Formats: sequence, structure tokens, C-alpha cells
Amino acid sequence: MNLASHMVSSARTHPDRAALRLGDAAVSYRTLDQGSARMAGLLHDRGVKPGDRVAIMLPNVPEFALAYFGVLRAGGIVVPMNPLLKSREVAYYLGNSGARLLFAWHAFADEARTGAQQAEAEAVVVSPGAFDELLVSAPPVEDLTDRHEDDTAVILYTSGTTGQPKGAELTHANLTRNCDIVAAELLQLTADDVIFGGLPLFHAFGQTCTLNAAVASGACLTLLPRFDAAKALGILDEHGVTVFAGVPTVFSRLSRQPDRDAYDVSRLRLSLCGGAAMPGQVLHAFQDAFDCVVLEGYGLSETSPVASFNTLQTGPKPGSVGTPIRGVEMRVVDNGTEVPQGETGEIAIRGHNVMKRYWQRPEETAAAIRDGWFYTGDLGRVDQDGYFWIVGRMKDVIIRGGYNVYPREVEDVLYEHPAVADAAVIGLPNPDLGEEVGAAVVLKPGARTTAEDLREYVKRQVAAYKYPRKVWIADALPKGPTGKILKREIVPPPEADRR
Ligand code: AMP
Repeated sequence: MNLASHMVSSARTHPDRAALRLGDAAVSYRTLDQGSARMAGLLHDRGVKPGDRVAIMLPNVPEFALAYFGVLRAGGIVVPMNPLLKSREVAYYLGNSGARLLFAWHAFADEARTGAQQAEAEAVVVSPGAFDELLVSAPPVEDLTDRHEDDTAVILYTSGTTGQPKGAELTHANLTRNCDIVAAELLQLTADDVIFGGLPLFHAFGQTCTLNAAVASGACLTLLPRFDAAKALGILDEHGVTVFAGVPTVFSRLSRQPDRDAYDVSRLRLSLCGGAAMPGQVLHAFQDAFDCVVLEGYGLSETSPVASFNTLQTGPKPGSVGTPIRGVEMRVVDNGTEVPQGETGEIAIRGHNVMKRYWQRPEETAAAIRDGWFYTGDLGRVDQDGYFWIVGRMKDVIIRGGYNVYPREVEDVLYEHPAVADAAVIGLPNPDLGEEVGAAVVLKPGARTTAEDLREYVKRQVAAYKYPRKVWIADALPKGPTGKILKREIVPPPEADRR
């Protein structure tokens, strides 16, 4: 088994069809197949063996797919990384995963190189022309390295309830089955479909539901490296997109685009939403403006990611996240015991989509997967028809415009500031992004600094989507008996530093 085999068989069936589009350029299935075979050859030449981790830090460009399928062909494990990561974050991901090689996009080369140096890894800078030259000089390795279905294909970094991001190990079977169900059952894709490729491919949602689902069906993925509502509408129109996928923020921005009627979106037949709770008014506004049904689903990096979905066959219930996909069970529990139907508890998931484990984290794995059930940390309920409704999350991950921000990571940076005694990073409601990042800080006695200085301090050290836009200095933070900061009791002042 190999997750790359779908792409290879689509290349055999229709080599000349476009697999990917970026602007006016198209990459055919033949080119994707041959390019990824050369990428596999390049990795062989560099001594990459089956099971070795190879990091890719690329935006949504064709090179992402060439590198991704090349690593899989060679039997390697892909470690996708957000291209916006700063050097200290790059060093952490590389050091933790043990990846010796990092393929990084030229526009972000400085942070990638510095991070790789710190982790004693090699950064290969990828730019369109130079990458082609690199691949042309490599010997193609056509044969897919045969992997067992339980072998890890991808390590996706994510944070559970605590600590630094952990690597969720997703196997060839996890990802193959998840994308097969998405492609064949939920979206009913054919080779004539054109899928919007604006979801980041380094994240589970974009990877399974757009890239892998598209290549499994021989469909075309139209890439958009950086989301922009006008550009997205242009793509829908020019490329005749049939299936749209996004996080709620993207739906909201598209619906509010003033010149929406100037674009022909008549080929759009279905839209897919997930990653965060979809507000009802956004769903309805989009459905009206685009005359297209929106299906909401639910999942996590640890579940490949799709666990449940609204489908056309069963009839969507707006506001719910639908029913579990085939071969997957979900239940609502409280301390391990199922709660009566309609009551709220933690969502637990069991099935072929649950990750193998967290990379080199046996304790966290044992805490998250018990008796085959993966405990999500999300709170929800199930109704009398078996539809699930997510009501909140136990863990305090902040989801800012679809990007996860892990408070602990940002707090760690704040704590490094010499003036900071206490710091708590929390999500603040935001009508556009869903949540904005806020930080309450208590200064050390006698220390002098400003909220602006603290904000800039964090901004320099973490990816742009993570730093707190709103920082305020408090006299004290509410704490529990053990000294743990009680984040839910923190009330941001109305006139805090907001930019
Ligand atoms: P990630 O691992 O980045 O995919 O994030 C997973 C988290 O996103 C889940 O634990 C949920 O908290 C949240 N999430 C995903 N889909 C939904 C949804 N449809 N409604 C509400 N929250 C969601």
C-alpha cells in the first residue's frame, strides 16, 4: 500500500488532464507522476530510506504536490510545516520529528535555513525554476515503495490539551481511506470536477479533502497560495470550480465580497466547510449568494481528519456536523461513560481514521487513545437522528481564521521577556476570524514595559497569525488553588491596546 498510488493510477488513466492549476499554468497528471518519481530519485540519492522523515514547508504551489508524492513514493514520512513558521518553530519541528531534510519555499528561505541550522538539518530552497532543474537532474524512481497499511505516511503537528505541538502519525491506511470516502461518498468526485485549492495543504483538511481527494478522482485542484476573496472568485469563474472547500472565515469573506455578481460561479455544485464552527448566518448567506449547498463536517488532525459530515444522501442539518462517516463511530462521553442522548459531553471517535499515535509520545498517546477510542477534547451532543452538534472545546486552542494558535506556545515566548511575570493567552471573539489572539500579562515588580513592546516582541518570534493583536497589562491574573491560571475568568479590558 502507498498513499501515492492514487496519483499514479490517475496518471495512467488520464495523463494529459490537469492535476493542478496555479494561475495560467497547469500541471498534468503525467508531469506530477514523473516529477514526483524524480523527487523520489533525488531522495534516494540523498540517502533517504523508508520511514525517514522529510519536512516540507511549502505554500499551495505545485511543488508541494511534487515533493509530497515524491516523499511518499520513496517510502518516506512527510512532515508538512506551515511556511510562515519562524526559525525557532522550524527548529522545534525538525528536531522533534528527526527530519534531516527540509524543502522550503524561497520566499521564506531565511527562517527555514536558520531553523534547519539550529536543528542540524539541511534546508533545500525550492523556487519554481530551480526546483525543476533539481528534479530533471535526478534519476526517476517509478516504482512506489511498498508500505504496510499501518506504516506512517504523514506526521501532522498539532496540539492536544497541553504543551508543545505533537506529531500525529497518520498511516497510509488512515489517509487513503479518509480521502476515498471524501472523494467517492461525500463529494462524489469525478475526473471532470475542479476543486478549489485554497485550504492550506500542510493542514489535514486541505491535504485529505482537496489534494488527496482530487488526485484519487483524477480531478483538477486549482491552487491559491494566499487567500484573497477577489482572487478566489476569479478562480471560481475562470477555472469553472465545481467543488469549494474552506473554513468558516473564508465563506464569510466570499459572501461579503461586493462584486460577487460580476463572477460566473454557475459550475459550483457543492461546498465543504470544516475546521471550526460555521455560524448559521454565514452558511445561509453563502448558500443564497452562490446558489450552492454547504455541507459542514468535523474532524481533527488526529482523525485524518474527517470523522463526521453532513451529506446530500442523508440530508444536511445546518448547524450540525452531520453523522459519522462509514467505518467510524462517534459517541458523547463523560469520564469515559456514554451520556444519554441530547446531553453534552466529550466527543470520542473510533475507526479507521484514528491516528496510530503521537510521534514518540507514549504517555500523550495513552491519554488520548483509550480502548481504541480517541478522546477529542471537544464538547458536543448527539440528537435523536444521530447527528452530532459541537458546542465548544475543552482544550483552549484558539482558532484564528482557521489557523490553530496554541496559547502555550505564545505564552512561552512572552515568558522569555525579562519584564514578564505571568502571561495567559486566550481567544477573544472576533466576528471576522472567529477568534482573535489576546494576551493578559502581569509584570515583574519594578519592571517597565508597554503592551505595544510585548506585542512586537512576540511578533518577531512567531508566525504572523499567532502573535496577540491585543495585549493588556494586568495587576494580577485569576488563579486556582494550585496556582494554575483560570483562563476562563480573565476579562479583557475594553480599552486595551488593539491594533
Ligand atoms: P485540527 O486538528 O487543526 O484539524 O483542529 C481540530 C479542531 O477543530 C477540533 O478539535 C475542533 O475543536 C475544531 N473543529 C473542527 N471542525 C469543527 C466544526 N465543524 N465545528 C466546530 N469545531 C470544529
